[in-house]
Amino acid sequence: MWEKRPLKGRYDVVIIGAGVHGLSTAYYLGRMGVDSVAVLDKGYVGGGASARTTAIIRANYLTPQGVPFFRESLKLYEGLAAELDFNTLFSQMGRLDLGHTDSSIYGLRQRAEINRLLGVDSRMVGPREIRELIPCIDLRVGKTLPIIGALYHPPGGVVRHDAVVWGFGRAAARGGAEIHPFTEVTAITRSNGRVTGVETPRGRVEAGTVVSATAGWSSVIARMIDLDLPIVTHPLQAFVTEPLKPFMHATISSADLHVYVYQTDRGEVVIGGGVDPYPTYSQRSTLQTLESLAAHALEMFPFLGRAKALRQWAGLCDMTPDYAPVMGRVDGLDGFVLTAGWGTWGFKAAPVAGRSIAELIATGRTPELIEPFGLSRFREGRLVNERAAAPAAAIH
Ligand SMILES: Cc1cc2nc3c(=O)[nH]c(=O)nc-3n(C[C@H](O)[C@H](O)[C@H](O)COP(=O)(O)OP(=O)(O)OC[C@H]3O[C@@H](n4cnc5c(N)ncnc54)[C@H](O)[C@@H]3O)c2cc1C
Repeated sequence: MWEKRPLKGRYDVVIIGAGVHGLSTAYYLGRMGVDSVAVLDKGYVGGGASARTTAIIRANYLTPQGVPFFRESLKLYEGLAAELDFNTLFSQMGRLDLGHTDSSIYGLRQRAEINRLLGVDSRMVGPREIRELIPCIDLRVGKTLPIIGALYHPPGGVVRHDAVVWGFGRAAARGGAEIHPFTEVTAITRSNGRVTGVETPRGRVEAGTVVSATAGWSSVIARMIDLDLPIVTHPLQAFVTEPLKPFMHATISSADLHVYVYQTDRGEVVIGGGVDPYPTYSQRSTLQTLESLAAHALEMFPFLGRAKALRQWAGLCDMTPDYAPVMGRVDGLDGFVLTAGWGTWGFKAAPVAGRSIAELIATGRTPELIEPFGLSRFREGRLVNERAAAPAAAIH
């Protein structure tokens, strides 16, 4: 799919990582007139977390920093298929965050108010409306944790992850970027406190700016320049069932049950949860997580007990302590830009993050939308606490 080319000795921008973030950044750089760009990946294009995501798109976050950022990304997703001239299969089926306890309802109400104040379509609904949206849900949830309300976010939905990656990749290539799969970055070169390029088995490449868009491997890349990131890599798992007749048309998530569920247009039921509670770089899935996700999904949809699990997988998530991303330059290290901390929520952010990082490189100015997410916030104690709005967040 990607034209094979020799690797040049110099580019204006070298992006490490051909996942959705690296490719989105390359695409927007081209649109801003920066066309000497190489995207290098140690594996195949989009083979990291971007290949493993369940691709839920939503903007119903919690903080005054996070909501405008994700709201803008949702808006970009709405026009992305036309913009990239590639069908991204974006289905705005709506999103329900379920509440089973007084304290979770309190948190959801807070999000509903903040969302509305910041122009995001979200409101609280009760059991009657939940049943109208998802008729076959068991609101009693095995009589243990009945559903007593939900945060309803109508524009939320699901996109086809491969289509987004390929769409960005093709459009970036049309705009002049070179995409080089199977080209691992083994070292980052520096001179006088400035990053000057990268080393690969195909040779050394000089660059005006090096961008790390490596998600689960961000800390490994950062260590190449003696940078310690406040990021811990955890695996996140999900699985799908065989295709069933359509029975639900919304994505639902329950932080109390540590599970989220939706049905794809093909009929498969996608089931996922929070990250596994141990750090590792292994991308193997486990029977224990399959059992626990299935058990919680069955409490809401007992009839799924007869469905067969078709595939299960795991991907790496770069978790920050405040469940928010890290974007921008790094103090004292010219020529290096970081886009990381994408954890379990990064796919939905790729259009706006790519555009913002491209703008930062093209103009030298940090866009206002990403200002709160700089690495220095950890030193300055300006954390952005998005934890309560992360999917199935209560697991940790
Ligand atoms: C099971 C699962 C479900 C998820 N569900 C959702 C969801 O519903 N909604 C949502 O918004 N997000 C979700 N996420 C998170 C989302 O998938 C990620 O945040 C996002 O895909 C990160 O994209 P990326 O481009 O930054 O990283 P990646 O797609 O991981 O790309 C990073 C790339 O860097 C490359 N790389 C690493 N080291 C090197 C090196 N030394 N040299 C060259 N290349 C290198 C890797 O090969 C990889 O291709 C989910 C994640 C998982 C695992």
